[in-house]
Amino acid sequence: MMGKAKTVNPATGEQVNEYERISISKAKEKIAMSAEVFALWKQTDLNERSQKMYALADLFEGKKEEYALLATTEMGKTIVQARKEIEKCAWICRFYAENAKNYLEKEIVDTEATKSYITFQPMGAVLAVMPWNFPFYQVIRFAAPAIMAGNTAVLKHASNVQGSAFALEDAFLKAGFPEGVFTNLNISAGQVKDIIEDKNIVAVTLTGSDLAGRSVAAIAGANLKKTVMELGGSDAYVILDDADLDAAAELSTFGRLQNNGQTCIAAKRFIVLDAVYDKFLELFKTKMQNAKMGDPMDESSYYGPMARFDLRDELHEQVLKTVSQGGKLILGGTIPKSKGAYYPATILENVEPGMEAFDNELFGPVASVIRAKDEGEAIALANHSWFGLGSGVITSNRERGEKVALQLEAGNSFVNKLVTSDPRLPFGGVKNSGYGRELSGYGIREFVNVKSIWVD
Ligand code: NAP
Repeated sequence: MMGKAKTVNPATGEQVNEYERISISKAKEKIAMSAEVFALWKQTDLNERSQKMYALADLFEGKKEEYALLATTEMGKTIVQARKEIEKCAWICRFYAENAKNYLEKEIVDTEATKSYITFQPMGAVLAVMPWNFPFYQVIRFAAPAIMAGNTAVLKHASNVQGSAFALEDAFLKAGFPEGVFTNLNISAGQVKDIIEDKNIVAVTLTGSDLAGRSVAAIAGANLKKTVMELGGSDAYVILDDADLDAAAELSTFGRLQNNGQTCIAAKRFIVLDAVYDKFLELFKTKMQNAKMGDPMDESSYYGPMARFDLRDELHEQVLKTVSQGGKLILGGTIPKSKGAYYPATILENVEPGMEAFDNELFGPVASVIRAKDEGEAIALANHSWFGLGSGVITSNRERGEKVALQLEAGNSFVNKLVTSDPRLPFGGVKNSGYGRELSGYGIREFVNVKSIWVD
């Protein structure tokens, strides 16, 4: 049974579209084509690849409204943030169009050889299993560098954003990339195993939950195929006793509610020093309460619905579980009567290790506020997590902030700024947040053969 991928507008609950899944044999045909095209694509001149990547950036800008509307309709992010997502796609494409050459330049190594150097050669058709939370950006973050390096990309996108997946495939074609350089496979999660095992897939990347990551990495491991895993997080923000509390509360509110609370690097655990705990909580609660939840198409909405009804219900269960374990609900925590997968800005207090909201990721607009007696305890609590994606420190003393940031176990630690992905810096996690890096030179070198050449 192949079935259909159905897309539903989470703001209304109405079906948007449905897309017939393809059979495994059809998917294998497409992968074979991707591998065939790779043989030609890897030989194209880097300048030619760059030109097409610039064209893709222009296309994202030209179709910004159309793509933003599609993302908002399929997964409910606010239209304002959807536009920013498309702009960021254009930035990533331009960044790699400009910088791939430097990152892939051969490195001369001084040895006894007449000539010795390292080259970075493409690997082949790479499978990308992607999430719905940034339906355009997550895909481009992988595909722009991988394709600039000379690979071809095969996408298995989240079922609820299949319209965005086809729009991306169309965008690559319109930008002039040969057919097969970027291929969308409308398959289910259950069909992924057969695709990973296909001889034409040389490597796999997954952005999503640690559960999906474990499954995909295990199958790829059994087939000795390289993986990059970009998984979930439970990012801690340490609010020190010298912080500007109003600014900290403002940043925390946006950090928790951006993308309707569904960002891997969203601030999720707020660890506040005892001396400023009460004041911070009061300010944070007011700002969270005042943030307007509403129609994602309304430009004045601060946040919209969650992406799917089942995810909203799961989040609510996690809140209830935390409360049953001793967490204190001080804001939100009830499912509104309005249609749509809405969940209100929620704050849990007295959250401790061993409770659901401390140990697991809450992927929605729910903040956990945690009291720490001093800086040392705050760092220990931040690090007491299975995850290690992003983290932050809020302080008026940059030097102190940097010292704390260096001690946080995470792939990114930002001082006085929310963690954000930036193509100039590597992005990824440690512990259950995954391994490997995207973006920067590190990202483009994940899917290449780092090859040594020696001429005696
Ligand atoms: P998800 O349920 O893990 O799904 C991600 C993708 O994996 C989807 O395409 C899904 O397909 C597929 N999938 C799920 N289970 C699978 C399995 N057993 N085998 C093969 N494929 C499988 O995650 P999500 O709900 O879309 O996204 C939310 C999660 O992603 C959060 O944990 C978030 O923190 C994480 N995330 C991490 C990053 C990062 O950069 N580290 C970025 C964004 C999101 P279907 O849709 O068809 O089920």
